[in-house]
Amino acid sequence: MKEVVIISGKGGTGKTSIVASFAALADKCVVADADVDAADLHLILDPTIVRREQFSGGSRARIMSGHCTACGKCEEICRFDAITYDGPGNGRVSRTYRIDPIACEGCAVCAYFCAEHAIEFAPVVNGQLFVSETRCGPMVHARLGVAEENSGKLVSLVRERARETAKNRKRDLVLIDGSPGIGCPVIASITGADLALVVTEPTLSGLHDLERVSDLTRHFRVETLICINKWDINEDLTLEIEALARRRGLKLAGRVRYDRAITEAQIRRQSIVEYAADGVTADVRQLWANVVETLRSPNVTATGTSS
Ligand code: SF4
Ligand code: SF4
Repeated sequence: MKEVVIISGKGGTGKTSIVASFAALADKCVVADADVDAADLHLILDPTIVRREQFSGGSRARIMSGHCTACGKCEEICRFDAITYDGPGNGRVSRTYRIDPIACEGCAVCAYFCAEHAIEFAPVVNGQLFVSETRCGPMVHARLGVAEENSGKLVSLVRERARETAKNRKRDLVLIDGSPGIGCPVIASITGADLALVVTEPTLSGLHDLERVSDLTRHFRVETLICINKWDINEDLTLEIEALARRRGLKLAGRVRYDRAITEAQIRRQSIVEYAADGVTADVRQLWANVVETLRSPNVTATGTSS
């Protein structure tokens, strides 16, 4: 089984529409939307959920008001101002302390210092994970709760479920819509992947983002290809990006032209290769052919490192 992850230096580069097209072009694959902070692949692939599970990324503190003596120690030491003096009274004190579950970071310092052992920890549900069916095959995706963190952990779980689904359904390719940027979620998206396709745009920020993202894929020894999306909006910067890619030994997988048909396709909840037969579709088909060719090359090993 091979895992191909499609990433970008920032959101809005057209990464998701490329993933949706790849899903339509791939023979038998499982699609994973690992961009859990801004998941939108479902808007194009229109999944029907067949299984869902709760995701817990950590624990939160809670004061057991019956045990609290209102000493105030926990409020004094909480660095996140998550504790307030407005909890219910008990037989000993008229008011106790209370923890705001949204402000609490789950660091456990308050529980450590509470002499009354009045603070407990309970896992909290941060989001949901779904295994679905789409017209392009199985899809694993997730929804993170509002203001919830630990998305790196959820990304890892999405990838794990996608691999399991591929194994069970005898599919030998997992296509991952990775998180943008260079933080924890993107690291969770790329580690151990066989191939990364970095989607960038010919802008100055696209140029700098490419440097940062390719540093990351090199660090994690993931074979990396480059795609320049909307290359014709600035040909000079496209040439600069290609020169940068050459200097870094990164292979250019393709240029994709700017075309309003991509937006029209999205409005109809279709990928561009399903919506249009020519124009930008030819670019995306060629891009996919180059990805497949690289994936089949002996340089891409089953462990995700270049030999
Ligand atoms: S440290 Fe414990 S006993 Fe003191 S106010 Fe906090 S919860 Fe109550
Ligand atoms: S676990 Fe940490 S963040 Fe949460 S209330 Fe206790 S001290 Fe504050």
